[in-house]
Amino acid sequence: LAPGFDTTRAKALADAAIDALRAPIDAGDARVFIEGSIGIAPFSALRDDRIEVMRKADVALYQAKAAGRACASVYDGALDAALRRRGTLAADLRAALETGDGIAVHYQPIYDAATHRIVAVEALARWHHPTFGDIPPSEFIPVAEASPLITMLGAHVLETACRAAAAWPIEVVAVNVSPVQLRDRDFAHTVAEILARTGLAPHRLEIEITESAWLDPRGTEPETLVELHALGVHIALDDFGTGFSSLGRLSNAVFDRIKIDQSFVRHIIERSDDVAIVRAVVDLATAKGLKTTAEGVETAEAATLLALVGCDWLQGYWFSRPLPYAGMAQLLHEHVQSELIDA
Ligand code: C2E
Ligand code: CA
Ligand code: CA
Repeated sequence: LAPGFDTTRAKALADAAIDALRAPIDAGDARVFIEGSIGIAPFSALRDDRIEVMRKADVALYQAKAAGRACASVYDGALDAALRRRGTLAADLRAALETGDGIAVHYQPIYDAATHRIVAVEALARWHHPTFGDIPPSEFIPVAEASPLITMLGAHVLETACRAAAAWPIEVVAVNVSPVQLRDRDFAHTVAEILARTGLAPHRLEIEITESAWLDPRGTEPETLVELHALGVHIALDDFGTGFSSLGRLSNAVFDRIKIDQSFVRHIIERSDDVAIVRAVVDLATAKGLKTTAEGVETAEAATLLALVGCDWLQGYWFSRPLPYAGMAQLLHEHVQSELIDA
């Protein structure tokens, strides 16, 4: 407790304490280094409740640890609210997964760039919360990834998508897989069981992983990816261009496909730089025997240009937004009808 300190002085005091802790300690033959993180909660002795002050200090401590440890942070009400929302969402997501209420899988069709035939769909998780309404995956996936919930959610999406795709006239169903799922040593086994149960041939499943899932901290491919590849499941590198992988590193990797990130695709008509980047990615991918999909195709002009550049498959709002199961089934039905008429 530092009576009369404002947050600036409290921060200076905490920094000094952290510095003092850094001094090495000789313990027999060993030198021991310790470090400390500090959370600071300003309070009024007259107004504030003791337990609440400790809780706020804990929130600030969490923030200090999240900022890389060995530092001090002052309590931040906005962060507190965000943490509370995450806590609520995690509990509600668990309940939703247990009952199945509010969780759905939507499908976005993927088109052959040359023929504009539907060749694949990407499965995308959706959550309708009973009080907050629709929660975007960019918010609930990280919540799920911070707990075992991602395993439940991931298995649910996989099974639902494989079952739907087994009956649909498409080549491939693409399913996003989190790095947390890949770290599970049983994951390839889980996938094999799902394929057997749903009757989907392994080569019709394409799992999408991001660069952060691809290489572990030692720079090697996770064993699970190699096992999945051996099962015959296809593997796509998602959001390519947003991380640090070079195309050179892809040559001996397990990938079958590269998905070119939306950020290079969205403005391709206005930006000649983006055309050059996409062309380079497509040329190198082709040389390595990999297929390409461009994501985020929002205009007819972009679709035409991307086909010219040589992308194999196209996906984006210009073709279709992600659709619920029934909408996707209907679209495929109409699509097959129109192909029959063309033929
Ligand atoms: P993603 O894998 O890159 O998925 C593509 C996202 O781009 C989807 O957003 C899709 O709705 C959106 N999109 C498609 N075409 C266009 C377009 O033309 N313009 C624009 N502006 N956006 C387009 P969504 O459904 O919100 O998903 C966001 C992310 O959440 C996904 O990015 C994926 O990383 C993650 N995600 C979704 N479902 C799952 C899941 O079942 N498991 C895991 N691990 N992650 C998932
Ligand atoms: Ca994806
Ligand atoms: Ca993507």
